[in-house]
Amino acid sequence: MQANTIRSIYALIHTGPAMAQADLAPLEAASELAKRCQGIANAVLVGADPDTAVERARALGMENVWVISNPAWPQPLQTQQLTDVFAAALASGNSLPCTPDTVFLLAAGAVGEEIAGRLAARLNGVPLGKIKQFEFDASGHMSATRTAFGGRLNTTLNCQAGPFFAAVRKPDNAMAAKPIDAGSTAVHHVLHSEPLRPAYPVTPMERSEQHAALEGARLVVAGGRGMGSEAGFTALYDLAAKLGGAVGGSLPTIDAGWAPVARQVGQSGKYVSPEIYVAIGISGTPQHMAGIDPHTKVIAINKDPEAGIFQAAHIGVVADWQEFLPALVSAWEALRPAQSNGA
Ligand SMILES: Cc1cc2nc3c(=O)[nH]c(=O)nc-3n(C[C@H](O)[C@H](O)[C@H](O)COP(=O)(O)OP(=O)(O)OC[C@H]3O[C@@H](n4cnc5c(N)ncnc54)[C@H](O)[C@@H]3O)c2cc1C
Repeated sequence: MQANTIRSIYALIHTGPAMAQADLAPLEAASELAKRCQGIANAVLVGADPDTAVERARALGMENVWVISNPAWPQPLQTQQLTDVFAAALASGNSLPCTPDTVFLLAAGAVGEEIAGRLAARLNGVPLGKIKQFEFDASGHMSATRTAFGGRLNTTLNCQAGPFFAAVRKPDNAMAAKPIDAGSTAVHHVLHSEPLRPAYPVTPMERSEQHAALEGARLVVAGGRGMGSEAGFTALYDLAAKLGGAVGGSLPTIDAGWAPVARQVGQSGKYVSPEIYVAIGISGTPQHMAGIDPHTKVIAINKDPEAGIFQAAHIGVVADWQEFLPALVSAWEALRPAQSNGA
């Protein structure tokens, strides 16, 4: 507990050609957190193609960026290999201070959360899990809020002595982050020459379906129990193909076999961060909404005007989807004749 020292906040990021915008969330979160506690925001980037992340860190006015790489590394690195590289960097001495009030942020998701836990164990730190919000009291002590039971409860963790390892999403006010002095970021390039431990053998699997993948989609058309049957999902796949999006589903639709489990959105399914999420025949329970990024614009189509989804929706349509979707598709085709004809 060092309330009077300047707190260091680190974003730990795995860079590479497959990096998505959500993978950069720790940069935004570290910058925002450092501003609120008058601390210092730094980033440690491990992997190939770091330029996008370096530019974002510069634009956010981060103090230091360490770019750790080795041209001989495979792509992507596996979690245990990433943990080794991050742990070696953090344990390397004075250049990356790791004191009891230091906070390390990784991207929310299976990989980031696993690395956060592994690093906390390696470096005698405290794993905080997936954190929604950090707060500081007048004396600078930190608490962290974590949701439980699908967003129904908030748990507040009193962060006494770390270092702390947390997984985060992009903060709600990230767009407001302004560069302090974009020219002041020091970028340190480090060649990690220690050999990597052998990778676990991975056998690539053929995708069992040819529809657009949910991961990374900019538009998601998701169906719920209100779709009524597997045939309802055929209409969703058609709509998604026309709009250039991917199909998602609520838990009951996966249980019913209307869509594969890889398309489940929610607390026990996938977390998606498209620009637009069209929720059709979905009631909007906390467990489902927990899978949608707060920055996503939600369009809800539901025949019940009292459906909870309308509380979260930016645009709501009270209608039976069987009547509304054909009208929507006709309107779309009238507006975009060239694209809908496949030209
Ligand atoms: C531990 C736990 C984890 C869970 N994880 C998840 C998860 O990851 N993802 C998830 O989705 N759920 C999850 N659930 C389940 C969740 O609680 C809800 O049961 C589920 O989200 C409801 O799915 P739904 O909205 O499709 O169905 P319903 O709640 O039954 O809603 C159906 C909606 O369709 C509307 N509708 C019906 N017919 C039409 C029509 N013709 N046109 C337009 N609208 C129509 C209805 O008005 C209604 O609002 C979890 C639950 C628990 C306890």
